[in-house]
Amino acid sequence: MIAVWSPTTLLHDPSAEIWIGLRTPGTEVAERVSRIREAVPAEWALAGEVPWSVLTSVHSEGLLRHLRDVYADWVSTGYPQDRVVPYVFPTPAMLGGMPGRMPVAVHGRAGLYAYDTMTLVGPGTWEAALMAASAAWTAARRVSEGLAYALCRPPGHHATRDGYGGSCYLNNAAVAAVTLRAEGFAKVAVIDVDAHHGNGTQAIFWDRDDVFYGSVHVDPGAGWFPHYMGFADETAGGTNLNVPLAPESGDEVWLSGVARLCEAAARWGAEALVVSLGVDAAADDPESPLRVTRDGYFETGRSLGGLGLPTVAVQEGGYHLETIGPLVAATLRGMGGQSLS
Ligand SMILES: [Zn+2]
Repeated sequence: MIAVWSPTTLLHDPSAEIWIGLRTPGTEVAERVSRIREAVPAEWALAGEVPWSVLTSVHSEGLLRHLRDVYADWVSTGYPQDRVVPYVFPTPAMLGGMPGRMPVAVHGRAGLYAYDTMTLVGPGTWEAALMAASAAWTAARRVSEGLAYALCRPPGHHATRDGYGGSCYLNNAAVAAVTLRAEGFAKVAVIDVDAHHGNGTQAIFWDRDDVFYGSVHVDPGAGWFPHYMGFADETAGGTNLNVPLAPESGDEVWLSGVARLCEAAARWGAEALVVSLGVDAAADDPESPLRVTRDGYFETGRSLGGLGLPTVAVQEGGYHLETIGPLVAATLRGMGGQSLS
């Protein structure tokens, strides 16, 4: 197995999340990276920097420049809040069909590309997000050497072409998918086993027939993020499959959902696979109500590995520091055809 990371991903320090008006300690912390590195035995390779042209095949120039520049602009104005937090959003409801103007104030501009208040931009955010995307890009370019794992932090599957949110800034899985396409794989499947629906990845590939997106996740219809998307009737004419699960679903229901995604990707004719590997569906995780065990994650890996495709696994969520490492390791062992211990 090839495992790719970058120490630069440790620099992202959002410090908190603003959730329903409350400032709460962030759970997407740098220690997640150290815990995973400790638990996954591999020769760790360093990511090379992803070309700008690859990033612009996934994201708009506007989002990329905003993420690159907004923290320095914010700090230079001397706001009392030391992280970039939007307070006004140019939603279609606000603009009423009019184009709107570029705000002069940085605090006006802060909501231009953010779609929630919990994804703060702080010191190191751009550098870390860039190198997380770079890890996905590097891993995808090395997929011919075997199972390739990218330890991406911050995660990415909630980032859309034009927007960031859900603790995600750049869509690492989408970068891996377009890189596999450029490497010559005609049909690429993204299977997302994070506890939450990857609305960003779904939206980025919605109109494309060369990338399939499938996701198993806690039902947004039961009140869970991303709330507006992730429902079973979002099919994109056959290249999108959502399997929303009720809260408290455990291994059996979860694994039947994973099996459905694998069958659909195989039937569609996928030539290569990107796995959005979140482990926040685990029983101990603070961010979801699903109850998947370590054995369940190992079996998830076995199902994905059973497809027999060139595979890039991209780290998404997983926030319980005591178990995140063993859960990721168990999934990767399953994917690689190894035994659990
Ligand atoms: Zn998640």
